[in-house]
Parts: sequence; C-alpha cells; structure tokens
Amino acid sequence: MGSTLITRIGTLVTNDPALGDGGPLGQIEDAALVLDGGTVAWAGPAADAPAADEVYDAEGRAVVPGFVDSHSHLVFAGDRTAEFNARMSGRAYSAGGIRTTVAATRAASDEVLEANLTHYLDEALRQGTTTFETKSGYGLTVADEARALRIAARHTEEVTYLGAHIVSPDYADDPAGYVALVTGAMLDACAPHARWVDVFCEKGAFDGDQARAVLTAGMAKGLVPRVHANQLTHGPGVQLAVELDAASADHCTHLTPADVDALASGSTVATLLPGAEFSTRARWPDARRLLDAGATVALSTDCNPGSSFTSSMPFCIALAVRDMGMTPDEAVWSATAGGAAALRRTDIGRLSPGARADLTVLDAPSHVHLAYRPGVPLVHGVWRRGARAA
Ligand SMILES: [Zn+2]
Repeated sequence: MGSTLITRIGTLVTNDPALGDGGPLGQIEDAALVLDGGTVAWAGPAADAPAADEVYDAEGRAVVPGFVDSHSHLVFAGDRTAEFNARMSGRAYSAGGIRTTVAATRAASDEVLEANLTHYLDEALRQGTTTFETKSGYGLTVADEARALRIAARHTEEVTYLGAHIVSPDYADDPAGYVALVTGAMLDACAPHARWVDVFCEKGAFDGDQARAVLTAGMAKGLVPRVHANQLTHGPGVQLAVELDAASADHCTHLTPADVDALASGSTVATLLPGAEFSTRARWPDARRLLDAGATVALSTDCNPGSSFTSSMPFCIALAVRDMGMTPDEAVWSATAGGAAALRRTDIGRLSPGARADLTVLDAPSHVHLAYRPGVPLVHGVWRRGARAA
C-alpha cells in the first residue's frame, strides 16, 4: 500500500492542540492529510501538502478521527423488542431483562454469536466507528463467558471480562458463591482472552465490596479495571473506580459532589452513555458539571439489546449536545480522543503524525454538523489503518 493524500478537507479535526487553531480539537481549515503505512504521515494546510502515490479529493468535506466506542456489549443472541415496546408504551413487562439475553446467548452456536457481532460491527463502521471495546456478560458460566471473549478477541484488542454483569440465575440463592466463581475458575478461563475487567456495581447487581473483590482479582491476573458505576442510583462505583485507578467509570448518571471531585482529580475517565438514558427514559448524565470540574469525559454507545440498542456515535454526540450540556466541539472530542483516553490509547482518537490512520469523512463541511443535523447519515467514507473500509 502506497501513500495517500486526502486533500481539500473543509475542516480537519486532529485533536492535537499543537496543530491548527490552538484549541483542543486542533482544527485546520482547507486542510490535507497524508496517510502512509497505516499511520498519519502529515497533517496541515492543503496548500502545503507534500505529494503522495494516490490522491483523494474530499471536495470540502470535514474529516474527523474515527470514532472510538469504548463501551459496548455485542456478544449476544436474541432480541428484546417486546421489552422496549412495553417500556415505551407505559406497560408493565415482567420478562427477565438481561436474563432473557443470557438464555438466548447460551443457546446460540459460536457461529450465530460471531455473525451477530460482525453484523453490528459493520453497522458501526458504516457510521464512522473504527475502534470498539466489547464485553462478555451474557454467558455467566465459565464456558460461556470464555467463549464470548474468544469470539470478541477475533475482532478487537479491547476485550472486557464482565462475568460480574448480574448474579447468574444459576446462583440466585448464593450470590457469594457466584462472586467466588467470577473471581476464581471463571477468571482463570477468561483472563487470557481479555485486556479489561469490569463489574456492574449497582443495587440489584454487585455491591461495593463484591465489586472490589471482582476488580482486584482481575487486576491480580493482569487485567485493567473499568466499572459500570452510578447508573441507576448513587453508589460506591465511582469512588471505587478512582481508588483502583480504573481506566474508566461508565454511566456516571447519579453523582455526588464528592464523586465529581474524585473524577476530576484522578486519571479515571468519566464515560457517558446517553443511549441508555434515551432508551430507558432516564435522567441524563450531567456532562457540563463534569467538564467544568475538570474531569475527562468520553462518549460511548453502550450498544446492547436491552437498554441501549444503538451503534451510532453520531446519535450519542447529538444527544450529548442537546441534553447533557456539551458543546459540539466537546462532544466530538469525547467521542474520539475521549474514547481513546478511556481505553488508555494514544495511537487512536487523533489525526496527527504518528497516529493510526483511522478517520471518517463527513458529508458536511464541519464536524459541528454531527449535532446540527441529528439523525442524518453524514458518514461519507471511513478509512481504517490507512485503507478505505467503508
Ligand atoms: Zn454497559
């Protein structure tokens, strides 16, 4: 593969403050990029661009870093349309929520699970997502959790062990026994396939002590922690995440002032998942409060069949701007560089020399259109590792 010059870019978002206008987006107007060997070789004004083997004319369109979706649950089978429909119609619905997906996932073949995963990955790619994290958590047995991670690891480096999603229905009367399994034999089987360990720290799932046990056991096996924290209620998740130097505390919807201070002072990223609040008609997380306090904020889809069945990062950007107090610039940064920070990556989420050549060309002159034109398919083309991918 030779070098490629992408030129006549209307607005280029590099996320490198050393480039362009000096702001956090490192924005350059009338810009060009040179991709070589899967990485960005050059970024700057189109008039100064060096020659390359091939030329792609962006015709005034905007270019942003490929979206980094740092939180999804895509190894699953089955469907929860009826549950969503009942919730949105104000009707009681007594089926088992996550348990429904657990039963369908256990019953599915490897082939069905992998085909489902690749279906949603392709869908996300066409919407500009070039990196995604995904989790286990719908198997809840040693074999089913390890299988989910093996399948996920064929498609991404960012694989998360979430045996502690809910207490397995098989252990309904013995939650302590389930925590012992998650921190014992299940962890042994799963750790070789994962980079991260996660826990749903919430009333009805795992309390602070159980969450600490899950995360520290994973850390002892070399996994790095991230936490489902403070989604439905105030709880100990955010404080635990910061204390253990987790890469990310995800959801962060119900925060005390002390939680906000902890996120602002530590290196744990606050990952906000507005698709979940949208799909459950819940209160929005307050991004403005976190940003004003100095916390690093990421945006992600939480794509899963129950509480947030969207793979669209542009949709999450639009929600964050409309309902969570973010500016369009902040939301685009959080969906790209913010997601990279939540995955502790410096090679993605930016388009400056040395970065991976993962980018999205928008059918719009500016990244602001991602929020200005909600619901419109604005992705014109996607490059991953320097090659056209969609
Ligand atoms: Zn989640």
